[in-house]
Amino acid sequence: MRFIPTSAFGSVFDITPRILKKMGIRGIILDIDNTLARHNDPEPLKDLDKWISSMKKNGIRLVIVSNNKAPRVSPFAERIGVPFVSDGAKPLPIGYHRAARLMRLPKRMICTIGDQIFTDMLGAKLYGIKPMLVIPIEPEKSVFFRIKRLAEKPFLPKTYHIRRK
Ligand SMILES: [Mg+2]
Repeated sequence: MRFIPTSAFGSVFDITPRILKKMGIRGIILDIDNTLARHNDPEPLKDLDKWISSMKKNGIRLVIVSNNKAPRVSPFAERIGVPFVSDGAKPLPIGYHRAARLMRLPKRMICTIGDQIFTDMLGAKLYGIKPMLVIPIEPEKSVFFRIKRLAEKPFLPKTYHIRRK
């Protein structure tokens, strides 16, 4: 099934430079909402800065692609020091394509990390990069999102990699 992610993790913190290197990944396209921060929360996850700097130290390039608007995405991206594409139109390839050009890496060296099957994972598959799913930080409250999450259920992986602390 084309939506099923290659790998699934508890959170971004379970994805390490070592795992990425083993997969031949040199660049990550990052989702924001419910992946790096709560939905529309300007505050990144605690210790996200450490995670980002360890990626950068290991030569992993990072670009944010969000379907959210620039006023949400731009200050957040600046705060964590990562370039961004807003209005990314996921699952269409356009935002991923712009991000890949910013990273100057071939598709086979790029993965995406996100929390949604029908935007992040489907988009990655359509564009041809490796999809890596994370569990959403918190459940969304809107009816629209609850329906979306229900629709994701048949496509969710059975196992998630979670690192012991
Ligand atoms: Mg998201």
